[in-house]
Amino acid sequence: MTPHANTPDPAKGAAVRAADRAHVFHSWSAQDLIEPLPVAGAEGAYFWDYDGNRYLDFTSGLVFTNIGYQHPKVVRAIQEQAGRMTTFAPAFAVEARSEAARLIAERTPGDLDKIFFTNGGAEAVENATRMARLHTGRPKVLSAYRSYHGGTSTAINLTGDPRRWPNDNGSAGVVHFWAPFLYRSPFHAETEAQECERALQHLADTIAFEGPGTIAAVVLETIPGTAGIMTPPPGYLAGVRELCDAHGIVFVLDEVMAGFGRTGAWFAADHFDVVPDLMTFAKGVNSGYVPLGGVAIGPEIAETFARRPYPGGLTYSGHPLACAAAVATIQVMDEEGVVENAARLGADVIGPGLAELAARHPSVGEVRGTGMFWALDLVRDRETREPLVPYNATGEANAPMAAFAAAAKANGLWPFVNMNRTHVVPACNITDAEAKEGLAALDAALSVADEHTV
Ligand code: PLP
Repeated sequence: MTPHANTPDPAKGAAVRAADRAHVFHSWSAQDLIEPLPVAGAEGAYFWDYDGNRYLDFTSGLVFTNIGYQHPKVVRAIQEQAGRMTTFAPAFAVEARSEAARLIAERTPGDLDKIFFTNGGAEAVENATRMARLHTGRPKVLSAYRSYHGGTSTAINLTGDPRRWPNDNGSAGVVHFWAPFLYRSPFHAETEAQECERALQHLADTIAFEGPGTIAAVVLETIPGTAGIMTPPPGYLAGVRELCDAHGIVFVLDEVMAGFGRTGAWFAADHFDVVPDLMTFAKGVNSGYVPLGGVAIGPEIAETFARRPYPGGLTYSGHPLACAAAVATIQVMDEEGVVENAARLGADVIGPGLAELAARHPSVGEVRGTGMFWALDLVRDRETREPLVPYNATGEANAPMAAFAAAAKANGLWPFVNMNRTHVVPACNITDAEAKEGLAALDAALSVADEHTV
């Protein structure tokens, strides 16, 4: 950490807070009920406030700082690009954009070789859906309950969590189905093999009863992130691929959260040997240093728009600053073995460390994940698997999770909390010592969660 970084300045913090409260309208929030922490700085795996408190960030922001905060090589690349060409319109060929597209296409699975750039994940999902509908000439899109695909109109309707409800006008052309999740099996399955088979049958039935000729796409997070990090059982994604092929349905994998090293592979799809027709990405592509997302496009859909204009675009598609940050991020990931580090830390430190915590804390119902992508499913009762707080709980009903989060923060850890879960999703390049420091803080916070078990 730089020497000046942690010098407290409470007066500045108060001013930042006051202007925020007066003028900033925050995402997903009842504006008068939130208390955003004024943040003074960040470096690597840590950030700090104006009062001298430093936190180990086990959230990577919103799971996007895959190489940590302020990586000097990426900061320098952004500065250099700003000095050379800060911006340029999307219709031109620009070095940073061309190079970013080349590096991404080289790493995406199979033949996903054309890159449409967006400003973030939701726009990537919007455009992937639009491409699928235009390519097939069909209206409907299938997506999973227990999913998150973004905050824009189509993306939020594809989403399978309560944030969709107030945005659902009932005419988005989206049909939800259940994807596999053995711990809370929608199919009463007892093994991964049963869960896989029943989930595939359920999807096949959904397609049959919706009418295959009406379905443009199946959109799935390769490993669902915000909804709980549920690694699909072996064979599931290959089975979805087969169903899509059988019915001429476009298979879209959303790797906005799972991509770019998060799971210990460049893309989560690499673990399953499956190649979608379209793949969305954002977040880790440049560690979120400058907004960027995109769609990686396979040959069939690329061909559809080879001689027919694609009716979609963005002023900042492939913004040079964002693309320069992506080029530098990918180079850093290569040079510093960030993907390998995520795989190793997950297998050798975080996975075993979380299993050890689960053995001692009755509030941990299940530990699941891979790489730097882990969830702890917290429960009131291990036998019944009753969640520590009810689905979508707020206020008093959510008090056990609030107490857990407060305890983590009191121990210097900023936790990712969603419903009855905490996710362990730190930067993919943290050290073993940082991982262990985080596990120790989690240990203390879980003792507070344990107080709310039966
Ligand atoms: N898709 C997935 C899987 C995500 O996790 C997210 C964000 O968390 C999005 C899409 C939306 O991305 P953005 O917030 O950049 O629009």
